[in-house]
Amino acid sequence: MIEHDVIIVGGGLAGTRAAVEIVKTDPRLDVAVVAKTHPIRSHSVAAQGGIAATLKNVDEADTWEAHAFDTVKGSDFLADQDAVEILTRDAPNVVIDLEHMGVLFSRLPNGRIAQRAFGGHSHKRTCYAADKTGHAILHELVNNLRRYGVKIYDEWYVMRLILEEGQAKGVVMYRIRDARVEVVRARAVMFATGGYGRVYNTTSNDYASTGDGLSMTAAAGLPLEDMEFVQFHPTGLYPVGVLISEAVRGEGAYLLNSEGRRFMEDYAPSRMELAPRDITSRAIVQEIRAGRGIHPDGSAGGAYVHLDIRHLGKEQIMSRIPFCWEEAHRLVGIDAVYEPIPVRPTVHYSMGGIPVNTDGQVRSSAEHLVEGFFAAGEAACVSVHGANRLGSNSLLECVVYGRRTGATIAYYVQGRKLPEVDEQHYITEATQQIQALIDQSGQYRLAQVRQAFQDCMTEHCGVFRSDGVMRQGLAKLQEIKQQAQQVYLDDKNKIWNTELIEALELQSLLTVGEVILASALNRQESRGSHSREDFPDRNDTDFLKHTLAYHSAAGIEIQEMPVVISLFEPQERKY
Ligand SMILES: Cc1cc2nc3c(=O)[nH]c(=O)nc-3n(C[C@H](O)[C@H](O)[C@H](O)COP(=O)(O)OP(=O)(O)OC[C@H]3O[C@@H](n4cnc5c(N)ncnc54)[C@H](O)[C@@H]3O)c2cc1C
Repeated sequence: MIEHDVIIVGGGLAGTRAAVEIVKTDPRLDVAVVAKTHPIRSHSVAAQGGIAATLKNVDEADTWEAHAFDTVKGSDFLADQDAVEILTRDAPNVVIDLEHMGVLFSRLPNGRIAQRAFGGHSHKRTCYAADKTGHAILHELVNNLRRYGVKIYDEWYVMRLILEEGQAKGVVMYRIRDARVEVVRARAVMFATGGYGRVYNTTSNDYASTGDGLSMTAAAGLPLEDMEFVQFHPTGLYPVGVLISEAVRGEGAYLLNSEGRRFMEDYAPSRMELAPRDITSRAIVQEIRAGRGIHPDGSAGGAYVHLDIRHLGKEQIMSRIPFCWEEAHRLVGIDAVYEPIPVRPTVHYSMGGIPVNTDGQVRSSAEHLVEGFFAAGEAACVSVHGANRLGSNSLLECVVYGRRTGATIAYYVQGRKLPEVDEQHYITEATQQIQALIDQSGQYRLAQVRQAFQDCMTEHCGVFRSDGVMRQGLAKLQEIKQQAQQVYLDDKNKIWNTELIEALELQSLLTVGEVILASALNRQESRGSHSREDFPDRNDTDFLKHTLAYHSAAGIEIQEMPVVISLFEPQERKY
């Protein structure tokens, strides 16, 4: 059996920042990071636009309180305000700290870190490295893992969280290269497994964003929080869904309908294109529904709108947002210096996740915590984003709460014994599970079932939702789950069997999808990204509370948890 003081699942920004903090706090601790990709290939590397912090380099009037208010208002007042206070007060520190680790941020002429405008932020506070911010930060963090001697298990797939008697004891993992199964026991387990964009058929997320950490947590009998809040990013490149960063609108891009009109003036007149993502995504869908979308021949009635940057000029485009230009050029053959870019909303981010307190410790209910289990980053829900996340607050969350959770773990494990684990039991179970998948002689192909599932979620739990449509979705999902039991794999080998990994990931997707649908059905109001056509208003009397959903074979049980309101009283959200 493999043993470490701490095992962290996830090599993105949250997992690596936590690992660095643990070994910096106590160099004697033996810390390992596991990732099913290489850590450098975690989705964090794709983050483009930037990371928010009130450095006041461009806008001296900015304050952490203004950042906190923007975040809480953006969240439609569902964020926990104690967590938001920590996020926004710590932001300048963590950015300077990244700078000291060697992250190359873009600069102002006076040498200070440059900052740009972002949707829903009232001041220019987003720090960036051109439009490759995640790349710049993750590379330095992974370098630091090596520098501090953190053990890295790359291309190992974690299959199971070992949780016994309310205590996390370790994980079961599978080496993709040669099918070796190992049990790891540890004094503390941390999940930083990222998001679940692949639950939907059009997403900006990478192929590995399948919500495994959420599914393993649910399978261990623990709740998932606020899963109904799925962020659609307004500007996914049509038709592929790849992200055109919000930085493009931060630099001044226009959104135009088939009449060539900046339609955001009808939806958010004071913020226009820089309204928060939920509002902008709904506006685009409404324009398309009203027949003001665009066809490839330029006529009205099509499935996308235009993102226009021609007025910025070649120099600004190439120096500030070169990657976005390149993506449009490479993927759909558009030269954005001369032509507008076709865009429509794409699934982008998970506001909900594994419920944690502000020290990163996982909750088993509104009142109780799980011993030895921690989470941070997109997989976690400390609830700084509530019902809608503001752009550039997610990298910030990963770094602030990655660091904070790391610091907590470094103290937590002192004096804590390595737990007893029945290694053989878990190895046998995992090996049987894998063999059963390989031996399964069904009638469906994996890709076919996954596509049916992704289409079902997209159709039945998209930007706009309603009771009837979601109930139909849940019924369809039960059929798809049956089909998933009858999937056959073409590849029966044990060496680099990526089809087997996809089969395991399909199980994660199904669990996460079901929790999203059930949570969305339960919330009979519209708040942030969750927009109910049958309940169009926010209802603070009945729904100013978090959802805790427990998944089991018998179905999903929903409980609730109060929202922490310590700074700002809820008010109407207008832009
Ligand atoms: C295209 C794009 C652009 C973005 N731009 C911005 C931006 O400009 N600013 C901003 O604030 N946010 C941005 N975001 C959001 C932000 O990048 C993510 O929320 C954040 O990087 C998530 O980091 P993480 O550490 O939580 O997870 P990730 O970076 O997703 O890492 C997850 C890790 O978990 C591992 N893992 C998952 N499951 C398993 C398993 N079963 N076994 C082993 N390992 C596993 C993966 O291999 C990976 O290492 C963007 C997101 C996207 C998709």
